[in-house]
Amino acid sequence: MATSGAQPKPSAQRRPKSGARRRKVLQPRSVRGIVPYTSEVVFDLLADDLGVVEHRPRLDGTSELVWTILSQHTSDLNAGRAYDTLVARFPTWQEVVDAPTDLLIATIRHGGLAQQKAPRIQAVLSSVRERVGDHDISFLAEMPLAEAKAWLQSLPGVGPKTTGVVLSFALGMPAMAVDTHIFRVSHRLSLIGPKITADEAHDILEGSIAPERVFAFHVYLITHGRRVCKALKPLCNACVLSERCPARESLAVVGDDRKPAPGLAAKPL
Ligand code: SF4
Repeated sequence: MATSGAQPKPSAQRRPKSGARRRKVLQPRSVRGIVPYTSEVVFDLLADDLGVVEHRPRLDGTSELVWTILSQHTSDLNAGRAYDTLVARFPTWQEVVDAPTDLLIATIRHGGLAQQKAPRIQAVLSSVRERVGDHDISFLAEMPLAEAKAWLQSLPGVGPKTTGVVLSFALGMPAMAVDTHIFRVSHRLSLIGPKITADEAHDILEGSIAPERVFAFHVYLITHGRRVCKALKPLCNACVLSERCPARESLAVVGDDRKPAPGLAAKPL
């Protein structure tokens, strides 16, 4: 989407994106008598099961940010309808900011929770413009990951998951976006501890795997959660991670011979 104006961006130290932080290689401890897989091994096993994941940015950073707000608590279909209507009616982000909020609410009503999302989108876009002079956030890709995350999370209502989506999907940075599937699978596999929250899981999972693998790791975990490690009745007997999954014993059902749907639905969120 077009942005208005062209102002200097905050100074961004040019460092390699993938080298911006030190990895913490987690040493798995035995859980209920099972030593869990590391994230790297989980990645390898799911890669064998699901195939190669390619990173293809679908939107620029600002558009991804707005999309992500629209997609909260609704389906991709509804979010897509709301987004398409929004960008058709308001060709620039400044027009979104300047629009009467009631008109914006009506425009994005297909996405649900429009009363909350419309003012949030306006507040976020206004804040971006105040800070950098326009609505282009592509400069974040040149910042160290931790600084880029902090910058985005200082915007009104932007949390770790939205930050992960924008930095990873749009800007190609090694950031995780932990949704309900990734959180559940990570808990069951003991990639994160039992008391870790979803917000805390972002940094832990990012630090547990090589930066160049973060995006695919995200896609593998979310796909595994949708196909196999479902919230209810996971398909443990057909799971490629079952051998060293500490949750298997309590979740597997003897005689369950269900098979997962074939193929990788490479839909990030
Ligand atoms: S064995 Fe069961 S609980 Fe463990 S990852 Fe596989 S499906 Fe999930």
